[in-house]
Amino acid sequence: MLITLQRRVLHLRSPLVTAHGSTSERHVIEISVQEGKFYGYGEASPLPGFGLESFQEAETALNNWVQDPEQLPTSPAALSGAATALEYLAFAKRGDSLPPASIAVQALVGASEIFDVETQVAQAIDAGYPAIKLKVAATNTSADIERIRVAATLTNEKALLRLDANGGWSTNEASQVLRAVADEQIDLVEEPTQDPSDWRAISTRTGLNIGADEHLSGALQIDRILELKAAHTFVLKPSVLGGPGFTRQLASRADEHNIRVLISSFLDGPIALRAARDLALDLAPHEIHGLGTAALFVDELPEDVQPVKGRIFRR
Ligand SMILES: [Mg+2]
Repeated sequence: MLITLQRRVLHLRSPLVTAHGSTSERHVIEISVQEGKFYGYGEASPLPGFGLESFQEAETALNNWVQDPEQLPTSPAALSGAATALEYLAFAKRGDSLPPASIAVQALVGASEIFDVETQVAQAIDAGYPAIKLKVAATNTSADIERIRVAATLTNEKALLRLDANGGWSTNEASQVLRAVADEQIDLVEEPTQDPSDWRAISTRTGLNIGADEHLSGALQIDRILELKAAHTFVLKPSVLGGPGFTRQLASRADEHNIRVLISSFLDGPIALRAARDLALDLAPHEIHGLGTAALFVDELPEDVQPVKGRIFRR
């Protein structure tokens, strides 16, 4: 098996501000594996602040794998990319093909200024997105309350509004903000605080559906979330969870616990987006997934990952 690595940089139209910091570009390692006339592709792109290896560490791990293809990388982003490439290679060797299909995706809004939130949410609704995810907990609580109200006024009955705090609120801040917006229609709040033992109480007090995302990165944390009944939704990111196989396992555990599954990009490049799209079609074809992120890049990504009227299409 021949493994090839290629670096690539993707540029965001405007910085995405989350509780983990601001992101303006994505450094991606594109992976291709080849056996004879068959190919499989994957991608590794760690992002600082999300508990992954650094870009350097991912690159080193993948270079070691190139030298010794029997030893898969162990760090999460590198492993996810390698496992994705191998799964698609196996698929190609079997001569299988996937039918054309499409899946609903959400728009991601991470602007901090109220005016920008208003503009970006209005644009997303006009473009036909069925859901909008607003990043929160990166500024202060009064700004968040105003940002959420502005977004909710626009999305009201036209699109779902989802919030993602990336664990950035304290318990008090989460309660303060979520109570202030209790009358708004909100589909979901992801990772409201750092500690999942808070989440059930937050949900009880506010009536909101809680999503787990960053906390799904380790077996012990997943067990704890299930034990605490802390989350109603699992947001699964195949590009950090170890690739398609691990994502499927986690989705079936979620299913056993009546937990909704959404698939999400990690501001991925086109290869990982495509793999996430295929998983979303396989695991939860009727949900709205976090896969509308190709629209955030200046770089022109391929058509089959670009959202059109709030959907992406496998051709
Ligand atoms: Mg999230």
